[in-house]
Amino acid sequence: MAIKEDVLEIRKIVLIQPGREGKIFGKAPAAPYTLMRLASLVPDDIDVEIWHHDWEPVENKLRTLGKHDLVGITAKTLEIEMVQRFTKIAREAGVQTVVVGGNHATLMPEDVTPWADVVVTGEAYRTWPKIVEDFQNDALQPLYNDTEWADLAGIATLSDRVITQVDEKRRYWTPMLEITRGCPRNCSFCTAIRVSGQKMRLRPIEEIVEEIQRRKIDRFFLTDDNFGLAFAINPDYTEKLFLALEKLPLRGWTTQAEMMVAKYPELLKLARRAHLDKLFIGFESVNPDNKKELGGKSKGHIKQYEEAIKAIQQVGIGVVGLFVFGFDNDTPEVMWDTWKFGKNVGLDSMSTTVLTPYPGTPFRAQLIQEDRLMPNKSWRYYDTAHVTYYPKQMTVEVFEKEYDKVCKAIYSPFRIAQRGLRALTRYPLRRMPAKAFGSFSTDYGYRRTFAWRHAVP
Ligand code: SF4
Repeated sequence: MAIKEDVLEIRKIVLIQPGREGKIFGKAPAAPYTLMRLASLVPDDIDVEIWHHDWEPVENKLRTLGKHDLVGITAKTLEIEMVQRFTKIAREAGVQTVVVGGNHATLMPEDVTPWADVVVTGEAYRTWPKIVEDFQNDALQPLYNDTEWADLAGIATLSDRVITQVDEKRRYWTPMLEITRGCPRNCSFCTAIRVSGQKMRLRPIEEIVEEIQRRKIDRFFLTDDNFGLAFAINPDYTEKLFLALEKLPLRGWTTQAEMMVAKYPELLKLARRAHLDKLFIGFESVNPDNKKELGGKSKGHIKQYEEAIKAIQQVGIGVVGLFVFGFDNDTPEVMWDTWKFGKNVGLDSMSTTVLTPYPGTPFRAQLIQEDRLMPNKSWRYYDTAHVTYYPKQMTVEVFEKEYDKVCKAIYSPFRIAQRGLRALTRYPLRRMPAKAFGSFSTDYGYRRTFAWRHAVP
């Protein structure tokens, strides 16, 4: 703890989003939505700024801060070393309180406590205003926990000053939006449920519509952990939501889902009318032996995958297939089977990532128990592109070599063009120009993720 008694006045609050992507064709990839909502909770009489390392490197700006500035940083596991470096620079500049929250702090607070002044676990929508108040009253605690998974109604409504400051249209390719939060499944490798809880919570529809209109966004990606599950467990809400979104002048939106949405053709049609463009479906594995790890959402049955993809594409919604390699029953052949499946089935885009033993997950606990976690593997390799544990059915070398080969095949310019053009033909001729970029950009993004395999020092 480095909190000093004389810090009672805030000159400015700075919320920092780390990132390793930088700008792509002049814009940062995704807007810092959670920080936008946290910044909106700061009282109007206190200056608040969001600094996003993808938009503009933050190191030099950190050097302009001092002891009356309160710094908050969010971090995923792979970014935690970067955040530690930012914290050091801020300290050297005279900052006395650096608050660290986000996924990694929630999943492994003991890893952050030694160097952060204040650690925030959980959602922070309820604790962040208290931290600001406690800073002013010189009453900060070392740990704030917000894991009550409370009702989302009225939570952290975006303020106009934050919307203006972030200037999403000019600076970001993808505005984000939250509609639901949490997922009742229990996939052994998932961090989302350990951060957002296992109860699916819903934002009031009128708040969603109001936010879209006030932000003046006409497309967005949902931050939801598993929006598709709302089709099954909250069909009335989902129908009302789609009817409300249909009335808005949206160009399109995308979200994560699971394949059982295909069992709801009427809701899918409504979703299309509500401008839903693409579903990112977590099939996870084409290997039926892995179903235990997949929390009941997917069973590795290729026939079912094909039927689901066809049913969704038939209503005019694209399907991005998400697959993970490295489960205990996976061999190199499973990777090539996945490649063949994606090639034959007509997916719009494809993501193939390496299973990653994130802190707080049953998968990591199992690896620790079996002594299969790679020692001294830095957190920056926890990016789903690197192997960080000893797989069961193949050596690390074979896994890496075959993974490289499969990804080179999947993300070759030819295959990206083929999938993109096929997706484009599903749109009426008049919509094709507007959809051209989106048809190729998802695969291009995944190709960049894969490229980190050989770019992380
Ligand atoms: S379905 Fe998705 S969000 Fe839900 S537990 Fe599994 S991986 Fe996590």
